[in-house]
Amino acid sequence: MPEILLHFAIPFSLAKTKFSLKQTLLVASLALVPDMDVLLRIHRSMTHSLVVATLVSIPVLTGVYIKKRKYLALAAACYLAIVSHILLDVFQTYTPILYPVLGESIRVKAEGSVVISSTITPRVTASVQTKPTDFTVFQTLDAPLYTSEGLVSSTMLIAVPILLSMRLRRFRENAG
Ligand SMILES: [Zn+2]
Repeated sequence: MPEILLHFAIPFSLAKTKFSLKQTLLVASLALVPDMDVLLRIHRSMTHSLVVATLVSIPVLTGVYIKKRKYLALAAACYLAIVSHILLDVFQTYTPILYPVLGESIRVKAEGSVVISSTITPRVTASVQTKPTDFTVFQTLDAPLYTSEGLVSSTMLIAVPILLSMRLRRFRENAG
């Protein structure tokens, strides 16, 4: 899994452009739900399946649409936050993204670099790797909470939208 702080920060930065801070915190927090499987000592279980997430979300979204339509965008954002977690994991490691339809966990590896000498040579590689899905209980889990790069990125992703909304509110107060 990419570090947990990044799983939170990316949907936070996107949701903050549309929702209140409280609603944004809800959306971003739900992006952490797939990793709750570690409490069962199984990591990247069916909580990391787009199929399962979608099947669970359809009745919830339908219920929100019927009973509380004004919250439909928020509910959809919550679903997309969970999806963002799963997609981020796919680019990090083997993830059972299509469980139970596909018994394989998928990893997408994409890398790009450039060699600059007398010429400029870009190198781009992308591959999809699979291995059988395995929900074995782990004995130990060594997962990063944050890295230096992730901490800086996450801080920016959280702080910039907050600062922008504060500045926008102050501008509106002065204009009004
Ligand atoms: Zn995960």
